[in-house]
Amino acid sequence: MQRIAVFPGSFDPVTIGHIDIINRGLPLFDKLIIGIGVNSQKKYLFPLEKRIEWLKKIFEYEDRVSVESYTGLTVHFCEQRNAQFILRGIRSAGDFEFEKAVSQTNRVLSRSIETIFILANPSLSVVSSSIVRDVIINGGDPKPFVPEEIEVSVHL
Ligand code: ADP
Repeated sequence: MQRIAVFPGSFDPVTIGHIDIINRGLPLFDKLIIGIGVNSQKKYLFPLEKRIEWLKKIFEYEDRVSVESYTGLTVHFCEQRNAQFILRGIRSAGDFEFEKAVSQTNRVLSRSIETIFILANPSLSVVSSSIVRDVIINGGDPKPFVPEEIEVSVHL
């Protein structure tokens, strides 16, 4: 059976921290689906189409990576795609506490799905989409934090 994982997130925008987790997670799975979760209650800085386009461009060389958006529960998306694993990155104790609750809840919702955690590379553990958004909104250059394949700019 193929080992399929979903890497869920908002990717608003995608950062070099996300890319590191995807690249380090890839050897563990046959297929990795980057799942962009769409929450109608949440406001995003970048449109969904842009976030999909960036991720597709970054991983166009890798057949095993696909990019999709989804609504609703991540475990339901995993079941629809026959994914047995959820991949998540952990940067800090705060991330751990949050991820622990989400993962344990997901285990109750779906016994067959296991969450796999990868610890952030120490040099990337301070990189987050929310800080990158702050940099952008305040006129800073996001380049050091985003993959070089993409051009992240907003006209606010
Ligand atoms: P969410 O919308 O669920 O907060 P994000 O798009 O911010 O998701 O991140 C998706 C996943 O990537 C999460 O597991 C998050 O912990 C992980 N991640 C984000 N930035 C980094 C980083 N710099 N290093 C390691 N993991 C990261």
